[in-house]
Amino acid sequence: MGNPNKERRPTVLCLSGHDPGGGAGIQADIETVAALGGHAFSLISAHTVQDTTDVTRVQAMDLALLREQAAALLADAAPRAIKVGLLASAAQAGFVSELTRQTGAPVVLDPVLRAGGGAELAPAGLVDALAALLPQIEVLTPNAAEARRLVPGAGDLDACGRDLVRRGARNVLITGGDEPGEGVINRWYRSDGSPRAFAWPRLAGPFHGAGCTLAAAIATLLARGESVGAALADAQAWVHAALQRGFAPGKGRMIPGRWS
Ligand code: PLP
Repeated sequence: MGNPNKERRPTVLCLSGHDPGGGAGIQADIETVAALGGHAFSLISAHTVQDTTDVTRVQAMDLALLREQAAALLADAAPRAIKVGLLASAAQAGFVSELTRQTGAPVVLDPVLRAGGGAELAPAGLVDALAALLPQIEVLTPNAAEARRLVPGAGDLDACGRDLVRRGARNVLITGGDEPGEGVINRWYRSDGSPRAFAWPRLAGPFHGAGCTLAAAIATLLARGESVGAALADAQAWVHAALQRGFAPGKGRMIPGRWS
């Protein structure tokens, strides 16, 4: 059936963990995609046990079920972008590769390796599996700690960013919220241009779900037809405003106010 309104809400296929507290993961994706004018298809990579302070358990979803869900969706619609968050096994990284090949859509991947509260979230083999995925990634959004884990032994963040691009990621935005300093510097490395830094005033946190929200915003703006440069700039501005509206639903960290 023809649907003239479909193009007004481009679809973003999201593959992320479920945070029952609603700050991060698939709920952050769905809210962000919708708030920015898209529609989220939501594949859940893992269920988690967590509160607004930290994660205590990650339960990977069955890969065969994810494949079946994706097959049904992709037979029905063509997503304009893919957003990937928490991957609960190395095999799920292979699934991302399948999705990329099947759709041809640009992938924005937020490598979730450790929770802001400190819990380890990277299963065995994930860092290597992410390395193999780099050539299929349009935008990679590690925070500084994640960038250092993806490039062990790198001298500084510049070396991490350049190495990730050299190994195939077309764009890498290393966010600096987890670095010390009065401001937050986010650094963009790319295959077709020189690095660029974005400087933001540091907001009083701590926050939970900011990284998921940023990656989902970038994916939505790409799906809406923005260039990578515009999507990175506009998504950061939007997330900064969402963090200014941040609130604490529990006793722990604040989450972005994705709805005004
Ligand atoms: N839970 C899920 C499902 C996530 O995707 C993430 C991060 O992406 C986290 C928890 C941790 O979020 P944060 O590092 O913002 O606390």
